Amino acid sequence: MTLVAGVDIGSTTAKCALIEDGRIVGKSLAPVGVELVKDAERALEQALAEARRDRGEVRVVTGTGYGRFKVTFGQFTVTEIGCHAKGAHFLFPGTRLVLDIGGQDTKAIKVDPNGEVVDFAMNDKCAAGTGRFLDVCAGALGYDVSEIGALSLGARHPVKVTNTCTVFAESEVTSYVARGKDPKDILAGLYGGIVSRSLSLMQRVGVEPEVTFTGGVSKNEGMVRTLERRLALRVNVSPLSQYVGAVGAALYGLERPTGAPA
Ligand code: ADP
Repeated sequence: MTLVAGVDIGSTTAKCALIEDGRIVGKSLAPVGVELVKDAERALEQALAEARRDRGEVRVVTGTGYGRFKVTFGQFTVTEIGCHAKGAHFLFPGTRLVLDIGGQDTKAIKVDPNGEVVDFAMNDKCAAGTGRFLDVCAGALGYDVSEIGALSLGARHPVKVTNTCTVFAESEVTSYVARGKDPKDILAGLYGGIVSRSLSLMQRVGVEPEVTFTGGVSKNEGMVRTLERRLALRVNVSPLSQYVGAVGAALYGLERPTGAPA
């Protein structure tokens, strides 16, 4: 029995997944602060506590995410592109295209039948169309981001949100609120814009079923429905969608020559 850990230090959250015998046996998720090394340590400790396991039992720790070099106690680092491909393939083996929308970037990743990366496209120039963008716009509407997913579902007259810059979009949302627009219609407008930008990334690598949606934004039901409508496809979303990078990182650890215990 080999216990491996993946630690994903993203722009907003730290995630850890523990895998043993092809099963996820522990996980953790917490916001990141300024001390990323400590956040990474805590992510592993919390996942171990959930799994009731000791650190000495972990064979390999693999770091991923934008802060992967802060997983200083790990043996390897792998880019989040490879990890999302591998993690999505583990959860949905038929995956051919991964759309990952996290706190600060969006990636479209084409994968082969073995879960290896074939091609990818990403937008990391600014927060446009990412989790951070939705966090800010949810705030302007007076909601937490976890509440706005279901809210847009009954939208009848989506507004057009023209600004892609987070700061300008926030004031556009505020002005729609002041004009008495229904939050449902404002959210539907926001989701429509984000999905359009995501689709252009996906088209750059080629849209091919099955599509698996990963990252924190995939927890937003309104975003999932909008994406499905525009693709005219059902999209895979796991209850563990925010952990996919950490899951992929843990799986990479199984392919390495055995490292020293963490
Ligand atoms: P990163 O890896 O860059 O830190 P994540 O993949 O963890 O990013 O995604 C973080 C984003 O996910 C947040 O900015 C937020 O917009 C979104 N998010 C997190 N939880 C939820 C939720 N329950 N409902 C909707 N969106 C969510």
